[in-house]
Amino acid sequence: KDVLARIEEVEGTIGAYLTLTKETALKEAAAVDEKIARGERTTFLEGLPGAIKDNICTCGVRTTCASKILEHFVPPYDATVMKKIKAVSPVLLGKTNLDEFAMGGSTENSAYHVTRNPWNTDCVPGGSSGGSAAAVAAGMAIWALGSDTGGSIRQPASFCGVVGLKPTYGRVSRYGLVAYASSLDQIGPLARDVTDAANLLNIISGHDEMDATSSAAKVPDFTAALREDVKGMKIGLPKEYFTEGMDPEVEKAVREAIETYRSLGAEIIEISLPHTSYAISTYYLIAPAEAATNLQRYDGVSYGERVDGSDLVEMMTNTRTEKFGEEVKRRIMIGNYALSAGYYDAYYLKALKVRTLIQQDYTAAFENVDVIMCPTAPTPAYPIGSMISDPLQMYLQDICTVPLNLAGLPGISIPCGTSSKGMPIGLQIIGKALDEETILRAAYTYE
Ligand code: GLN
Repeated sequence: KDVLARIEEVEGTIGAYLTLTKETALKEAAAVDEKIARGERTTFLEGLPGAIKDNICTCGVRTTCASKILEHFVPPYDATVMKKIKAVSPVLLGKTNLDEFAMGGSTENSAYHVTRNPWNTDCVPGGSSGGSAAAVAAGMAIWALGSDTGGSIRQPASFCGVVGLKPTYGRVSRYGLVAYASSLDQIGPLARDVTDAANLLNIISGHDEMDATSSAAKVPDFTAALREDVKGMKIGLPKEYFTEGMDPEVEKAVREAIETYRSLGAEIIEISLPHTSYAISTYYLIAPAEAATNLQRYDGVSYGERVDGSDLVEMMTNTRTEKFGEEVKRRIMIGNYALSAGYYDAYYLKALKVRTLIQQDYTAAFENVDVIMCPTAPTPAYPIGSMISDPLQMYLQDICTVPLNLAGLPGISIPCGTSSKGMPIGLQIIGKALDEETILRAAYTYE
C-alpha cells in the first residue's frame, strides 16, 4: 500500500509505468500477508513489490515494448524470468516504460510518453530501461527487471542513482524477452542496493532449455559473495574509457571511488583495451543487423497491429510505416543495409571480426586483473530534448557500456557520487565471464 501510495503521488510527474496492475498487486500482497500471519514467510522477494520492463512477456498482462505495433499485445505465456520470479510470490506492480524495442538511451523513444528523472524532472532517466530505473529511484517499486543490449540496465541505473547489473551473456534466460539484438540482449536486476541485486540474480539465473544460448554453468549463491573484502583485488583501469568527451565531474567521482578501493587494499593497475574506439561502430552495425532481422516478424500478420492496404505488400508497408517509430525505422534501415548483398562483407562481416578483437582485448586484460573499473556513462543525466535530435551524438554516449555486451561480460553500475547539479554518477565494474561474484563483492564493499 505504501508503494501504491507513492505511485499515486509521483507517477503523474515521473511516468515510469506503461501499465499498472494495482488490483492484482493488492491481491498478491494480501495473500502474502496471510502467509506471514501463518508464520510461513521464508524467502527473499516474497511480498516485495517490483516492476517489469515492458519488453519482458507477462502472461495475461499487456507487453508493448513501448511500441504502437504491440499496443494491444497480451502474451499468452510468461518469460522464463517471470516464471522464476512468480515462484517466490512477489507483488507485481506493472510494466515499465522504455525506448521502443529497447532502442535508445533516454526513454525518449517510447511511443507513449517520456519518463522523467526523479532527481530532476527536467532530465532524462537514461535508457532504455528508464522506467524501471526511475520507478526504483522514486520509491515506486522496491526492485525492477530491465534488459541490457548495450547498456540499458547500467546507464539508467547510473542516471537515477540505483544499482543495475547486466549478467554474463547466457546467465539469464532470454526466453520471453522480446528480441532486440539476440547475441547481445540480457535481462538483469535494478535495485536500491547491491544485496537486493544479488538476491534477484539468484532468482532469475540458470540454464533454460527454451533458450539455446543459455549457459549450463552452475549458478553460485550470489549473496554468499557479498563480503566486504577487496584486499589484494587487482583492479584494471582502462585508459581508453576515460575519453575526451568525459564530463570532468564524472571522471573525478570515478577516480575518487577508485582511490577508496586503493585505501581498502586493492591494487590499481593501468590497462589498455586498444580496440575500444571501434566498439560504437561495431555495436551500431551488429545490433541494428540483428534488430532488422528480429523485427521482420511484425508484418501485420503474425504479431501485433495491422493497418489495411489494397494488397498484402501495401498492408505490410502501411503497418510498418505507421506503427514503428523513427528510431526503430532508422535501425531497420541501417541493419538491412549492412546485411545486404555487396555490403555484407564490408560492414557486417567486418563488424563481427572487430567484435572478436574487442573480446580478445578483455581476455588479455583479465590475465592480469580481477575486475575492470570505469565510468558507466561519460556524463550524468542530461535535459530532456537536448540530445534526441542528434542520433549519432546519442550513440557516442554508449562508449563505456557497449564493449562488454560485445564480449558477453557481466557489469554492474553503482552510485559513486553526485554532480554539482545534484545528479547521480555511476561507477561501472566489469568482470570476467560468469564471474558476477567478484563484481558483486567489489560493489558491496564500496557501498
Ligand atoms: N543505447 C543503446 C542502443 O540504443 C543500448 C540499448 C540497450 O541496451 N537496449 O542500442
